[in-house]
Amino acid sequence: MFDLVLRDATLPERRDGPCDIGIVDGVIAAIGADLGGARRQETAAGRLVLPGFVDSHLHLDKSCILDRCSAEGALGEAIAEVSRLKRDFTEDDVYARAEKTLVKAILQGTMRIRTHVEIDPRIGLRSFAALQRLKRDYAWAVDLKLCVFPQEGLLNDPGAEALLVAACRAGADLIGGCPYTDTDPQGHIDRIFAIARQFDLDVDFHLDFDLDPGWMHLDAVIAATEQADWGGRVAVGHVTKLSAIPPATLAAIGGRLAAAGIAVTVLPATDLFLMGRKHDHSVPRGVAPAHRLAELGVTCSLATNNVMNPFTPFGDGSLNRIANLYANVAQLGRRAEMLCCLDMVTTAPARLMRCTDYGIAVGNPADLVIMDATDAAHAVAEIAQPLMGFKRGVKTFERAASRLIRPRMHPRDRSAGRREEILTGWEAAGNHR
Ligand SMILES: [Zn+2]
Repeated sequence: MFDLVLRDATLPERRDGPCDIGIVDGVIAAIGADLGGARRQETAAGRLVLPGFVDSHLHLDKSCILDRCSAEGALGEAIAEVSRLKRDFTEDDVYARAEKTLVKAILQGTMRIRTHVEIDPRIGLRSFAALQRLKRDYAWAVDLKLCVFPQEGLLNDPGAEALLVAACRAGADLIGGCPYTDTDPQGHIDRIFAIARQFDLDVDFHLDFDLDPGWMHLDAVIAATEQADWGGRVAVGHVTKLSAIPPATLAAIGGRLAAAGIAVTVLPATDLFLMGRKHDHSVPRGVAPAHRLAELGVTCSLATNNVMNPFTPFGDGSLNRIANLYANVAQLGRRAEMLCCLDMVTTAPARLMRCTDYGIAVGNPADLVIMDATDAAHAVAEIAQPLMGFKRGVKTFERAASRLIRPRMHPRDRSAGRREEILTGWEAAGNHR
């Protein structure tokens, strides 16, 4: 007897039509046609079912501060503005804003998130404490991993390292770095790896976030990864410089990243908004070609980054929208390319985050999202909406599919021009509103 059976589900990789998914104790126990005995059942009505979106790079702590900001310029201005504002962030303020953004993400079908948390003498551990609380309070809907990092540099910011170490000691899931804001980028990278080794943590750098290909910190990160033997445990975000190099150079760097086991997260919404500000025409896109790196064997994800702040004054938390945005910007239109974009907001970020229990397969947690689509490539192309989600077999959200209300003429009323709505099945069965 299953606790729940989700019936008539179209799975992205299954060729033989819709199937049932049987769930016991929050785990997928069976996938097949016409599964029997269930205490409860739901139907996907033939729609596409995905294993939940995975956001590998999201700043919950500084989301929803747009109404406090005046910056509308480039990266440096955004960092300076948040630096000023965060001195006044309280734990409850961070919690409330982060919760608002997290709920948006849950309603968009996101079920696993790596969130970056700023740690430095200005904010101390207040954001970290707020997000630890949020992680516990929303564990029923989303797996949240906290990546602590010094946004404003490490060696140039006395006190930052002691706080970072305190956060690692207090249960941070991984550590990040931001060498481009440090006066000593190499020293910054070395210290982050030293702390990662001390606490046995994965590493995630904000890296090479401009369009000058003349120099890159990527070389230092590759060297440090190899030296620490940390392959498979390192990710870099943005790397917008990779959008400013010719294909042969990109291929060489992609090969080195793949060999070193370094994953790449591209943040299209932020990169499009902040890059190329010096141009007043033919503005470069500034979005690293994630799909090309993926072809070279690099684990690549697309992620949200910021929501409603000076880095990105937009955001609905939808990773499907980000996948579509990337396809649009990268000029991808073929079916296989759309599926690659979907992979980069689902399976690839799960691999980046080393989730070994991700995917719709027997034995994995029953994390399931029903999309208002029947085809995976079309779901990205059309930015299909998620209609219902289950985390470990428990329903976490639902929304009604939209419904057209079309005027209709009765032959007898044609002269009078009377109209009536098309009825839903429920109404046609004799029920009245
Ligand atoms: Zn970021």
